[in-house]
Amino acid sequence: MSTAATTDAWRESSTTLEGRSPEEILDWATARFSPRITMATAMGAEGCCLVAMIAKLGRPVRIFNLDTDYQFEETLETKARLEARYGIAIETVRAGRSKAEIEAEFGPDLWKRDTQLCCRIRKVEPLRETVAGYAAWISAIRRDQTPDRAQSATVEWDPKFGLVKVNPLLNWTWKDVRSYIHTNDVPYNPLHDRGYPSIGCWPCTKPVADGADPRSGRWNGEKTECGLHARR
Ligand code: SF4
Repeated sequence: MSTAATTDAWRESSTTLEGRSPEEILDWATARFSPRITMATAMGAEGCCLVAMIAKLGRPVRIFNLDTDYQFEETLETKARLEARYGIAIETVRAGRSKAEIEAEFGPDLWKRDTQLCCRIRKVEPLRETVAGYAAWISAIRRDQTPDRAQSATVEWDPKFGLVKVNPLLNWTWKDVRSYIHTNDVPYNPLHDRGYPSIGCWPCTKPVADGADPRSGRWNGEKTECGLHARR
């Protein structure tokens, strides 16, 4: 089936689900795709909400974290707290090459010289390998985060990785995320309370001032996406 035909095939589902709650969207997605459905999370607040919702649904979803070699300690601690709270395992997925092998080939601190290549080796390629063979993956993106993400559909064909992408939180705001976390006592990354609205690898993540673009602390403003959710 062509990419256009595959995209059309999911448009009706997406239209039906648009405006439904994240729990209803996840219920639909897991009923339809489990156990061939997976989710990557860097333990951002949005991902923590989805982990809580998926755990409540109880259907098998392979949840994994991409170990980039550069995650904050607070992120790893959040992972452990989510696992303990919900009795689930969040798998750690590493790049096909070790940090030493990457440094041997490209030199130290690749992120200082080429964030595109570094993200590709440490995030995009490992995700591609991990989702291969799955029917769908779940993302925690929100429409109000970037102009690119604003174009996303609740259910859409992801041509980059060759499977369906389900975006249950598209219509949520940061306020919705915070509200869900506090109402449901969901473990979350404490860096969010220290000026980090968006959290990735420590070399490429800075706190932002109140009122600034929440993603402006990523990659020193050089880019806004690591490549997992970029539509081009
Ligand atoms: S966010 Fe930075 S350190 Fe992490 S993979 Fe991308 S460039 Fe490398």
